[in-house]
Parts: sequence; C-alpha cells; structure tokens
Amino acid sequence: MAKVNRRNKPYQFLGESIPPGSKQVIELEAAKLYTHSPLSIPVEIIHGAAPGPVLMVNAAIHGDELNGVEIVRQLINAIDPTKLKGTLIAVPIVNVFGFIHKSRYLPDRRDLNRCFPGSEKGSLASRMAHTFFSQVAQNCDYIIDLHTGAIHRTNLPQIRADLSNPETLRIAQAFATPVILDSPLRNGSLRSEAEKSGITVLTYEAGEALRFEPIAISAGIVGIKRVMQAVGMMRMSRKKLPTSVIAKSTSWLRAEADGILRTVVSLGDRVERGQVLAYINSPLGNVEVEIKANKGGIVIGQQTLPLVNEGDAVFHLAYFTQRDHMVEQVVGDFIEEVIDTDLEPLTTGQLMPPSPA
Ligand SMILES: [Zn+2]
Repeated sequence: MAKVNRRNKPYQFLGESIPPGSKQVIELEAAKLYTHSPLSIPVEIIHGAAPGPVLMVNAAIHGDELNGVEIVRQLINAIDPTKLKGTLIAVPIVNVFGFIHKSRYLPDRRDLNRCFPGSEKGSLASRMAHTFFSQVAQNCDYIIDLHTGAIHRTNLPQIRADLSNPETLRIAQAFATPVILDSPLRNGSLRSEAEKSGITVLTYEAGEALRFEPIAISAGIVGIKRVMQAVGMMRMSRKKLPTSVIAKSTSWLRAEADGILRTVVSLGDRVERGQVLAYINSPLGNVEVEIKANKGGIVIGQQTLPLVNEGDAVFHLAYFTQRDHMVEQVVGDFIEEVIDTDLEPLTTGQLMPPSPA
C-alpha cells in the first residue's frame, strides 16, 4: 500500500510560523509593569509532524496554584514533536501578575477566572482575559485547565467538567482521576466561556496552592497523556484505563466553633454518617467541638491549616450512588498507580530535567 503523505502544515501563531515536528517558545505580551517592563505570558507551541487536534494545557490562572506549572514543565519535556499528531499549546503561567506576587488574584484584586472572555476596554483583569482568550484559547479544540485548592486547602486529584457534553465526558473518563465532579459552568471562568465557543474543556484540581505535591503532579501528567491518546495526538496505550467514579453531589462541612483544628481523616478516606472527622479545641481548658460527617462519602478536599473560625469550610465531601468502599478502593488503586508510574523524580535540588529525545 502506498504511504499516504500526512505531513502537517506549519502552525501559524501570533505572527510566527512553526514548522511541523518542532517546538517554539513565544511570548504573548499581556501587560506592562509600572516600570514599563513588558509582562508576557510564556507559551510553548509543540507542533506535531502529523496533523491532529489543538490542545492547550494551561496553569496558574490563579497565580499561586503551582502544581500545574510543574505539570506543564514536565509535559513539555516528555512530548516529542516528531511523534506528535496535532498541536500542544503549553502555557505554564497565565496569571503572570499573580504568580510574581504569589497571589491568586491580579493587582486589581480581581479573579482572572471570573473575567473571561474579557474585553479590550475593561478592567486590567478583563483586558488580560481578553488577550489570552482571543489570542490563545480560541485557537484550540481542547483545553485542560490546571488548578489546585486555595491557600491552606488541598484537593484529592479530581476532574471537574460539564458532563452533559458527551465529548467532555469521554475525555474526562480518559483522564481517569478516581473522582469526577459534574460541575456546572460558572460564568466568566475559562472553562465556561470556552465550552460556550465549542471547545471541550476539563478542569483538573489537585493539591494545595503554593506547593509542589508529587502525587498531584504525577497524576496530572499521566491524565493529560491519556487525554492526548484519547483525542488521537499520541499512540494509544494498551493499558486499560483505570476506573473513575462520577460523584452524585458534593458538599462542604463547616466549622461550628473557633479554635484549633485537629483532623483525623485525610484525602481519599471513606467516612460514614456521624463519624467524627475533626475536633476543634480551645487553646486551654477542655472545650472541644466535633465536626461530624452528615452523610457517608469520600473526602475530596480539606483544610490544611490547623486553625479555624466558625463558618470556615473544613472538609469537602463527595457522595456517590455506588457503595463508598468501592470508591475508596478506586482512590487507593489510583494512588498506588501514580506512585508506581516512572516519572521524573521530584527533589528540591533537581537541576535540569532530562533533555527530550
Ligand atoms: Zn484555581
């Protein structure tokens, strides 16, 4: 059989032409500092030798959410453009202002993830959202938006997506975190606005702000590669996909007292209705208030700071129609699999990653 010539065309991006089978770093000018130093969003285009879909993987729309920054770095090093079908747009830091200040927000105290699609004449946040949305996001067929919990709050690796879209559901299951949340679209978020323009979007949530967490990072890389296989960008692995379980609903348990928090469960644990999950103590004396589960479920998020005020959200529980011990087993298998995956070791002293093939 004659070999069909499936050579890709060059990829046009911000006035640059990127040849098939190559990588290129491009700076997207987003704003300026007071000093007039330009502030740009670094973008790496990995343009495959063969044609295929365009996938963007972006992190740090909330500037203090760092696990995704490391996921993008490792992903770039792991992808060989000569073997890639389609185009990977890697954006490790979207909210460059927030990143510099180790802050979730922009200098105008707005949340970038409530400002999409943005406008040219709007606030600082709205202008940045507009630049990023119109110049980068809208060129994509698929987006994976990487997040972590807020500061002092950590999440079990989970996918949040609008599962009423069959393609979104398909790639959410391909990502295969143990828990998937069917999460309604929130106006102004990248996920919601991109879905409205016909782009399939997943939000990956894992770990805590201002931290590098090996499990959250490894699970992210493994999941993105599985999505790339599912959309035809990489060769399919023969390995069977691990099971994901779709949560029926979730809720937050709040502190009913102020004080010092001692938690007795951790992420992924199965809890039963009435079970004590944490104690809130006064610094002296024997005042002790319990936080109890109101229903049986799985811990998918929790506060890490051992201090609480009344009303603080301490545990995020997910509820399932399947029996919870089955879900707990899925979470356990997932963590084992991620630990076993042979990825780059994460040591603080690490200098350079291995160079790509
Ligand atoms: Zn976030």
